Amino acid sequence: PRRVVTGVQPTGALHIGNYFGAVRRCVRLLDQGEDLTVFIADLHSLTVRQDASVLQRNTLELAAYLIASGLEPARCVVFQQSAVPRHAELCWALACVATLARLSHLPQYKEKAKLYKEVPVGLLLYPVLQAADVLVYGGTHVPVGRDQLQHLQLAAQLVRSFNHRYGAALPAPQPLLPDDGSDRILSLRDPTKKMSKSDTDPKSRVLLSDPDDVIELKIRKAVTDFTPHVTYDPESRPGVSNLVRLHCLAADILPEEAVEEADGLNTAQYKAVVARALVRHLAPIRERARRLLADPRVIHAALQHGAARARARADTTHERLARLMGTAPL
Ligand code: ATP
Ligand code: MG
Repeated sequence: PRRVVTGVQPTGALHIGNYFGAVRRCVRLLDQGEDLTVFIADLHSLTVRQDASVLQRNTLELAAYLIASGLEPARCVVFQQSAVPRHAELCWALACVATLARLSHLPQYKEKAKLYKEVPVGLLLYPVLQAADVLVYGGTHVPVGRDQLQHLQLAAQLVRSFNHRYGAALPAPQPLLPDDGSDRILSLRDPTKKMSKSDTDPKSRVLLSDPDDVIELKIRKAVTDFTPHVTYDPESRPGVSNLVRLHCLAADILPEEAVEEADGLNTAQYKAVVARALVRHLAPIRERARRLLADPRVIHAALQHGAARARARADTTHERLARLMGTAPL
């Protein structure tokens, strides 16, 4: 059977790139009846320095927005990564079959390592932990963006080495790529870059927590180009096409339909249409998250319930692998 596993880091307020590129895709997978495990990747977030109270708050808020977006605990397994120690434990076993050469050549590692004088080992192990996150549940499919494909290839390679050494039969996880461009929502200030939590300009992204008027303002200020009419042409008109894409994702229509709706409008007028579609889609989610955060006990209970289910599944994999590795308790 297919098992879909994915994680989101609690490194700050979710933006609509995270939402359409990750969260909403997961909701779609649930609608298709997939078995989905979603974790809040707090262990991953420790690769950069975190303030403990900020990390706890971010974890709570992320849980609220995941649930409010439709990843309800009754439909999928939602929990905090650190609540299931088997992730870190399998990471160790995988690290023992991974090679330094392979890990240190991954482009994302090389890019991030440049920022340090003394590189933390966690940065190197990051994709090994990612592999463990999936394999510990026997995950077969991972919804990813194109930029994560190298990490999935690494996971497949670790699976081969691990299975070869221990005679295990872990499945190599397959990528699930979207066909609607939702894995590449662009910055509203610079449409040559992805929208990102770490961008220093807050106007570059719409947050799920933004009030209606802030959403409208940020879309109104979005950088486009000097052609007045609206077309969908991601290569030559990335700014306008990004707005068309957001319109499509929010209103659940195709680019042709969006462009038709924009007929006779200039880009300034079209921005109001896009903002309205986003507001209509996001306002109910923001309201549900607000209500959840007003009494976090429901969130705590959901995470505990999720963690218990995740632990049970992870234990099953662990026991099988421990026998093969010779680390089963005597
Ligand atoms: P950071 O800038 O810290 O890397 P981020 O905004 O890229 O933050 P991540 O925590 O790295 O967010 O990613 C969370 C999820 O959101 C991942 O599944 C990632 O593929 C997806 N995602 C991130 N940015 C975008 C984007 N611009 N468009 C579509 N999906 C995105
Ligand atoms: Mg990122």
